[in-house]
Amino acid sequence: MRLKHVKGSEEAVNSSSFVFHSPEEIKIKLDEIKDRRGTVCLEIGMGKGRFIIDNALLYPDIFFIGMEMYESVMVKAINRLNAMEEPPLNLMLLRADAADIRTFFPEESIDKIFLNFSDPWPKNRHAKRRLPSGHFLSLFSHVLKPEGIIEFKTDNRDLFDFAMREFEPAGFALLYHTCDLHSDEEQMKTNICTEYEEKFSSKGHPICKYIIKKI
Ligand code: SAH
Repeated sequence: MRLKHVKGSEEAVNSSSFVFHSPEEIKIKLDEIKDRRGTVCLEIGMGKGRFIIDNALLYPDIFFIGMEMYESVMVKAINRLNAMEEPPLNLMLLRADAADIRTFFPEESIDKIFLNFSDPWPKNRHAKRRLPSGHFLSLFSHVLKPEGIIEFKTDNRDLFDFAMREFEPAGFALLYHTCDLHSDEEQMKTNICTEYEEKFSSKGHPICKYIIKKI
C-alpha cells in the first residue's frame, strides 16, 4: 500500500500517552490484567482505529490494543482519542510490524486477535506477507493463550480462500465462516464495522469472515 507522509505523525506517535513505547510497558500492563484474570484483545493493522476504539467504548471490561505499522495512519486514531472528552482507559496503541509481534508480547498473553481487511499481497511470491498466512498465524499462535481466537474479515475473496487453506496446518480449528457476513443476522447483532468494511460493503462487496481457535 502506498502511503502519504503525514507531517508530525512520528512525533505525535512517539509522544502520545495512548501509545505503548516499549515491550516492558506492555509486559507490566498485561501482568496487571492477568492478575485480575482480565481479557486482552489485539487488532493487527488497525489503520485509523475506528474498530478498536469502538470496541473499547462498548466493552469497558476488556483491554484492547491497536497495532499498526505506519505512523501516518496511526496518527488518525491518536487525533480521535485526543479529541475525546473521556477517552477509553481500556485501550492502548502500538506502532509495530506484525512480524515483530513476539518481541512485544509475552507468550500466551492474548485472548483474541482481530485481522481486519489485511493487505491482500496478490502476487504469489508475496504470499508470506499476508497476515492470515500460515507463516504469520504461527507467530500469532505463540502470543495467543491456549484456545485463543483469531477473527478475520475481508472483502477480498482470493485472500479469504487462501486464508481458509492456511489455518489448519498452523494449528487452528474453524469455529465459523461466511462469505456474506452482512446477511448473517446473528453475527450482525455484534458486528463492529471497520473503515474498510464500510467502504467496501457500501460498494456492494460481500464481506467474508472466519473465526478460528488455537488448538
Ligand atoms: N483494519 C483497518 C485497516 C485495514 S488496511 C480497516 O479494516 O479499516 C490494512 C492495515 O494494516 C494498514 O493500515 C496497514 O498499514 C496495516 N498493516 C499492513 N501490514 C502490517 C504489518 N505487517 N504489521 C502491522 N500493520 C500492518
